Amino acid sequence: MPTYRDEVVVLRTHKLGEADRIVTMLSRRHGKVRAVAKGVRRTSSKFGARLEPFMVADVQMYKGRSLDIVQQAESLGAYGADIATDYDRYTAASAMSETADRLNEAETTPQQYLLLVGGLRALARGDHAPRSVLDSYLLRVMSLSGWAPSLRECARCGAPGPHEWFVAQLGGIVCSACAPTGAPRVSVETGDLLRALLAGEWDVVDAASSGATAASSGLIAAYAQWHTERGIRSLSHLEAPR
Ligand SMILES: [Zn+2]
Repeated sequence: MPTYRDEVVVLRTHKLGEADRIVTMLSRRHGKVRAVAKGVRRTSSKFGARLEPFMVADVQMYKGRSLDIVQQAESLGAYGADIATDYDRYTAASAMSETADRLNEAETTPQQYLLLVGGLRALARGDHAPRSVLDSYLLRVMSLSGWAPSLRECARCGAPGPHEWFVAQLGGIVCSACAPTGAPRVSVETGDLLRALLAGEWDVVDAASSGATAASSGLIAAYAQWHTERGIRSLSHLEAPR
């Protein structure tokens, strides 16, 4: 039988028929996988709880013609409960899963899987502010996808920084000469925080002021949104019927 085994993070689930679910997963070695989990909505289901959003599991799947079928699932990280009971953690985890789902339409790497698992684990443990975990994840997953923001040199002309403006469409921080009118200004502290979030320097991140944290969150959200929407547009262009 054509079966395979992999470690996965559950990104989302959809009901299918009376008792089944379609589970969308980011796997370590097989990219994004959509598979049917049969009977998981029955209370007697053995692996239903292991295939909820934000759960990490070792699954065995049967390769179907259109959708694969989950045969077994062993829990590797039951982060769902610790995340779902806290609104801020849940919001952050949802945004991370959605971003992983969007980015990985095109291609996936084991690094993207590991980054998501690490982020969900940090959220479940309450290691840092949920929004900071999300912001760090977004900057790093963008970098893994080839969209690393420029956070010191000017993103447009390469002039050595630090600079004071941030323009998502230009690729990050830009110099005075390159900044268009109305570009958001970046304080020294916010610039330092952005670099710390990307590098995973959590002592700097955890000590940042609420003002700098809010400012960096806004810039990162704009940057991630601009790039993922562009990614989806280019993908739909590629997949258009001819
Ligand atoms: Zn410049």
